Amino acid sequence: MRIGLFGGTFDPVHYGHLRPAVEMAERYALSTLYMLPNHRPAHRGPAAASTDSRIDMLEMALGDAPHLAVDGREALRDRPSYTVDTLREVHAEQPEATLLFFMGMDAFAAFDTWHDWEGVLALANLVIVNRPEAEHSDFSAGLLARQQANCGPDIVTGNSGVIEICDVTQLAISATDIRRRIARNLSVRFLLPEPVLEYIGQNSLYRESQ
Ligand code: ATP
Repeated sequence: MRIGLFGGTFDPVHYGHLRPAVEMAERYALSTLYMLPNHRPAHRGPAAASTDSRIDMLEMALGDAPHLAVDGREALRDRPSYTVDTLREVHAEQPEATLLFFMGMDAFAAFDTWHDWEGVLALANLVIVNRPEAEHSDFSAGLLARQQANCGPDIVTGNSGVIEICDVTQLAISATDIRRRIARNLSVRFLLPEPVLEYIGQNSLYRESQ
């Protein structure tokens, strides 16, 4: 069994998250790819929308999309969300499963700032999703080169520590840009799913300039 985990703030979720999620679930034949909204992002300030709103938006966005689901465990933690803790929990629940942790290239470039990133690599394989304008840092380029030089198992047979770059349809959409547009009263139609757009309007989210 192969499980995918895609962490993020999803503030709000948009097609730049969703389309890669569909492509990655297909490419790696995942039983399920879980989108994991964090409660208090470990690397940044508080989210603009509440945890509940971000989960509601994710659930609306996914609808009944096959092989995609929301996992609220990080959102329910009342302390910074550490990926390594989540991976430990999932591993304890499903010890036979290969865990693939997905992150955008921008996140991977700063992976050395993550709490116990070596622990993350000891529990899961990493799939790095290409993202427009995102580039390697010296650290991420070095880590990838070291891992590839080891020529170990591939991403679907290895159980941890394998890193692979994954090309997905490139969508230059960011949540920051969406929040800024809403605050300036500009349309965000077609950047995210219609039900999420309606939810944002109904709940007057992201109106404050940031
Ligand atoms: P913000 O603009 O608020 O930083 P974001 O759009 O980057 O938000 P996050 O919730 O921070 O969204 O991202 C969650 C994960 O999705 C991260 O690993 C990020 O790199 C990845 N990601 C976000 N947008 C894209 C995109 N357009 N293409 C590929 N990956 C993306």
